[in-house]
Amino acid sequence: MAQGSAKIRIVHAEPLGHGARLLRIERVDGAALGFAGGQYVIINTGVTLPGGKLAKRAYSLLSSDAEQRSVEIAIKRIGAGPGSNVLNDIAVGAELEWSGPWGKLRLPDGFSGRALVVATDTGITAALGVARGAAAAGAAQLDLVWLVESDDTFVSERFVRERLPERARLTVLGGFLPVGHPERPARACALVGDRVRELAAGPYDAALCAGDGAVIYPLRDRLAALGAPEGSVLLESFFNNPLKKSA
Ligand SMILES: Cc1cc2nc3c(=O)[nH]c(=O)nc-3n(C[C@H](O)[C@H](O)[C@H](O)COP(=O)(O)OP(=O)(O)OC[C@H]3O[C@@H](n4cnc5c(N)ncnc54)[C@H](O)[C@@H]3O)c2cc1C
Repeated sequence: MAQGSAKIRIVHAEPLGHGARLLRIERVDGAALGFAGGQYVIINTGVTLPGGKLAKRAYSLLSSDAEQRSVEIAIKRIGAGPGSNVLNDIAVGAELEWSGPWGKLRLPDGFSGRALVVATDTGITAALGVARGAAAAGAAQLDLVWLVESDDTFVSERFVRERLPERARLTVLGGFLPVGHPERPARACALVGDRVRELAAGPYDAALCAGDGAVIYPLRDRLAALGAPEGSVLLESFFNNPLKKSA
């Protein structure tokens, strides 16, 4: 289905950990979203920023793409950030503008090989979307590695395991360095490299990474050095995007 914009309604909300929220959203017109696992939507939070622009924020769909009319997103409250605070406080029944689905972090249609998915921090939402979409499509083997500081500020490990398809193997590398720590990229490359060597019986057919841009770009080079075919590592930077001046 083509991308578009429409109104969405918040149909359910529940708290997650300290300072995060799970929202179930539906299009007001009842239409399907037409997304593939790993994609995201952009929500116009309705907040006008100091420069006059509206705060439009991206959120990855963590629910399975087998269900297209009612979908879930999880939002971590980021300091005084306008978008994440509105969505953590908004009432059930409220309506907001939405556009999408967007994003190329997805397995090719009919993919049946072995895929590695690496998530840092909130990037676990996109990883869940990819894993659940792959399961719905009957994909073969999927290894998911999640680098996370602690599991009480966003979705928990239990939350992730309850939603992961049986054939996906999850490794949680908890106690990870905080966002912004200068050694984060190097530590991530070392940890993921070790885990890949333990898990894999040869290179993966595809690798997808989501989360901290400061980590996933160096990680792409590391995965290439470990044998990932050229062009096979896809990235979705949620924050610290090195390609943007202000991420
Ligand atoms: C493709 C994509 C998918 C995303 N999916 C999700 C999602 O599923 N769940 C979710 O909670 N957020 C997600 N985000 C981040 C989200 O779009 C917002 O950046 C976030 O909610 C903060 O917005 P804000 O307006 O509250 O704060 P802002 O004022 O916009 O942000 C404050 C600063 O915090 C940074 N930031 C954003 N997220 C984090 C984080 N986890 N840790 C540390 N710093 C961060 C921002 O880049 C910015 O520099 C995604 C971003 C992208 C690009």
